[in-house]
Amino acid sequence: MRRLAVLSLHTSPLAQPGSGDGGGMNVYVRELSSALARAGVECDVFTRAASDALPASVTVEPGFRVHHVAAGPPVPMAKEALHGVVDEFAEGVLKVLDGSGDGLAYDAVHANYWLSGMAGHMIKHRLDIPLVSTFHTLDRVKAESSPEEVEADSAVRRAEEEARIIRCSDTVLASCSVEAEQISELYDADPSRIRIVAPGVDHAFFGPGHRPQARRALGIPPESPLLLFVGRIQPLKGVDVAVRTLAAVANAHPDARLAVVGGPSGPRGADELERTVALVHGLGLDDRVFFVPPRPHELLSTYYRAADVCLVPSRSESFGLVALEAAACGTPVVASDVGGLRTLVDHGRTGYLVDRSDPEAFAGWVRQILAEPLLAQRLGTGSVLRSRRYTWARAAHLLSEIYEDLTAGRLVECS
Ligand code: UDP
Repeated sequence: MRRLAVLSLHTSPLAQPGSGDGGGMNVYVRELSSALARAGVECDVFTRAASDALPASVTVEPGFRVHHVAAGPPVPMAKEALHGVVDEFAEGVLKVLDGSGDGLAYDAVHANYWLSGMAGHMIKHRLDIPLVSTFHTLDRVKAESSPEEVEADSAVRRAEEEARIIRCSDTVLASCSVEAEQISELYDADPSRIRIVAPGVDHAFFGPGHRPQARRALGIPPESPLLLFVGRIQPLKGVDVAVRTLAAVANAHPDARLAVVGGPSGPRGADELERTVALVHGLGLDDRVFFVPPRPHELLSTYYRAADVCLVPSRSESFGLVALEAAACGTPVVASDVGGLRTLVDHGRTGYLVDRSDPEAFAGWVRQILAEPLLAQRLGTGSVLRSRRYTWARAAHLLSEIYEDLTAGRLVECS
């Protein structure tokens, strides 16, 4: 295996995660491509050119390039409209692949998210190479937890497209066993073609540090309890639960604060932010909740280190990089008992899982962590140790084995 075409149609691995279309998928594509390149697999990542000021290609590091492909107008487009430019994108990718001119063939195409999956499906058949798919989120999984999100998102019957892509993927990657089960149950996928490859965390950036120093850097008083929420602001992420959790611990901890790091995302993001600000105001928490615009990924460790506890109240989560990054920094996580968070949080050892998006339940564990410094310390140490299982190098190693197997075998036929 020498060369891989990675598709990331709707969002660039070079974009700032934490708002708009930028989130875990950007981090995943960037970190995995970088780790694969270091492991000897060349990665060409293709993303839609959202501006005509972008160069046709950028070398991020040796063996990892990002190509900006013209598809639709060279301006930011709503994700909901992008299915209309998939064919143009696929043709643009094929043109770059054909024109690479160095005689090296691409051994596989790896598509991220269903829009890239549609393009990957076309490219697989045109080049006769294996298709690997990572969905990041799936329509039918979202439909179970947040039907209102799906309505806004399913203009072209996304779930049917996902099912079609799954049927023709030589391998479908899942981040954890919960996601693997969801893919096989909700999409009737052949379990033998689903492989679990957990994402990683960059331990060079995300590691334990000195809390008072992190607090000083952020201008947060050393003694005030600090709760942290990091991520895109949209209903699925449950930032309202984080605010209500702060309200529920306020009696016991009148100086507690909540930092919300991230910005609005998706068609309902702006409304969700507005609702959250109104909720903060209504609960009389204006001087206790501070909103921080998206921060560069590698600077987030200061926030994790400064916090006493990281809240991840998502209503659905295929993996949950934020929970892993917090853990790597030694910060206990209290998370919803959903999706990948179930694998990431070891209940009682690294943090706590809460059955529903119930602020009282979140607050119960937060109060306990704040009241018992020794418990907090034990959870923090447990978190760091457990997080060490997850590295991008390990993910890249597993993936390169999968690609090798695929190039040696027969392609799955379209059904
Ligand atoms: N993130 C970031 N800056 C921010 C907010 C978030 O770099 O201001 C990153 C965060 O570190 C994590 C990713 O965005 O790596 C979010 O991934 P997660 O899996 O938690 O959620 P997703 O966006 O995939 O739903």
